[in-house]
Amino acid sequence: MTRDTMEYDVVIVGAGPSGLATAIRLKQLAAERQGEISVCVIEKGSEVGAHILSGAVIEPRALDELIPDWRERGAPLVTPAQEDRFLFLTEKRAFRLPTPPQMHNHGNYIISLGNLCRWLAREAEALGVEIYPGFAAAEVLYDGDGRVLGVATGAMGIGKDGKHTENYQPGVELRGKETLFAEGCRGSLTKEINERFGLRKSSDPQSYGIGVKELWEVPADQHHPGLVVHTVGWPLDRRTYGGSFLYHLENRQVAVGFVVGLDYENPFLSPFEELQRFKTHPAIRPTFEGGRRIAYGARALNEGGFQSVPALSFPGGMVIGCAAGFLNVPKIKGTHTAMKSGMVAAEIAFRRLHGDASADYRAAIEASWIWDELYRVRNVRPGFRWGLFPGLAYAAIDTYVLRGRAPWTFRNTADYLHLKKASECKPIAYPKPDGKVSFDRLSSVFISNTNHEENQPAHLRLRDPQKAIAVNYALYDSPEQRYCPAGVYEIVKEGSEGAPRLQINAQNCVHCKTCDIKDPTQNINWVVPEGGGGPNYPNM
Ligand SMILES: Cc1cc2nc3c(=O)[nH]c(=O)nc-3n(C[C@H](O)[C@H](O)[C@H](O)COP(=O)(O)OP(=O)(O)OC[C@H]3O[C@@H](n4cnc5c(N)ncnc54)[C@H](O)[C@@H]3O)c2cc1C
Ligand code: SF4
Repeated sequence: MTRDTMEYDVVIVGAGPSGLATAIRLKQLAAERQGEISVCVIEKGSEVGAHILSGAVIEPRALDELIPDWRERGAPLVTPAQEDRFLFLTEKRAFRLPTPPQMHNHGNYIISLGNLCRWLAREAEALGVEIYPGFAAAEVLYDGDGRVLGVATGAMGIGKDGKHTENYQPGVELRGKETLFAEGCRGSLTKEINERFGLRKSSDPQSYGIGVKELWEVPADQHHPGLVVHTVGWPLDRRTYGGSFLYHLENRQVAVGFVVGLDYENPFLSPFEELQRFKTHPAIRPTFEGGRRIAYGARALNEGGFQSVPALSFPGGMVIGCAAGFLNVPKIKGTHTAMKSGMVAAEIAFRRLHGDASADYRAAIEASWIWDELYRVRNVRPGFRWGLFPGLAYAAIDTYVLRGRAPWTFRNTADYLHLKKASECKPIAYPKPDGKVSFDRLSSVFISNTNHEENQPAHLRLRDPQKAIAVNYALYDSPEQRYCPAGVYEIVKEGSEGAPRLQINAQNCVHCKTCDIKDPTQNINWVVPEGGGGPNYPNM
């Protein structure tokens, strides 16, 4: 069976905020010129929003520019941020700190980003954009000169053994005059594009965090719509970057999450367990007591900022949103910059399609507010390499005294290089879950509604299977057992004396991409599974 081909002016990979903003802006530009443009967006989640996981407090700046009448059009931004609290936690106590200026949320909204994407998708479809959820872009297509021609979706119905099953259907080739990669943080095809076109040659390595999140419904008297709480300190040690967020949305819902910088050193650390024990803190537990946990998930986020932004264009297309790394770390916000980068890319693509070969995406990004915003905060996150208190002190000096204009730029290094050997670190004793406010991993994955066709080739590939035991187990006590928030990686032994073996429960994977980032020898390669597989987040 051969693959069908569909031709478009622009093909966009990923229906997150950046991809959808791009699609909408392209259609607006065509309408302004009374012209036509064909735009298609493909999305690996079973529906738009199914794989979207964010905080989220959103700064509406880009949305205001894209759809100025979003309020009248019913966008799901209904809870304005009312109050910010920034806390430092010790094991038993909480101390209120001044809220850093970047974390003031006046004018922002507490939302479900998944629901905003669903709404953006409806707006895009109303303008004529074709959106295909349930289709994962599995392969980049190139022409004879190496120019990107589009992408191909993965074939369906290939068994574990690599043979066609009776449900076999070949993928579809989606060809575009411009192909835009909007895969979000650590995109799997973006990785290939970066390498093939050397896009990261002149930038620092990207650095990342993992965010583990739950959505709760809490009793009315524990719910304060519009309240935004961030914490630093306990349960993390002072050398590990990270902290929590608690956002009170509408309908008695509270989003709670914990972010850990993936440059952490101790292989015994478990971001999942850090979230669980964080919720048991005396200042935090009362919010959740008597409540009900309704959703769970995890996702990596970019932390490299300005100095890690790669080259952004290649023959045939561009990289946008968190696939390029536009998140503002001190703000903990990347949605506004992701959307803006998509809008800028749309304008460049539109000009190129109309024969303006000089249209330069990088220059347009550098001329936009994204660049100035990222430049000013570029030294804040790297300052935390000295630990929590020196990091906070440096952040205050950089923000209040130097105002982001320091004559130096701290460099970023790859996260996996920071992991220490197990023999150099102390195991961490995490408390047992109480089943009321803290839970185990498997019952958590259950409420992420994750589902993958079981009979398909593994989408978590070990470049060298020997290393799982010879390196990861022997030297690092298999850190993937702990950093994976979905319990995908397990060391099993046949009997007490049996040799250890790595078991990969790929069907549990929530597509956070942490294993692709943190594996100490970069031995794990995350590729897309069959389209539609993965979590089914309702409103994360
Ligand atoms: C825990 C956490 C908390 C956050 N909190 C905030 C916050 O409070 N405020 C804020 O503004 N930002 C926040 N962010 C950041 C914000 O979520 C991102 O900046 C934003 O989602 C980036 O948008 P994007 O479109 O670039 O990528 P994404 O939102 O990641 O969307 C990418 C889409 O592409 C799809 N996709 C990926 N690969 C493929 C493929 N090969 N084929 C088909 N589809 C594909 C994915 O399934 C996904 O739907 C947070 C992030 C995390 C993880
Ligand atoms: S297998 Fe990798 S991508 Fe999947 S949930 Fe675990 S760490 Fe995340």
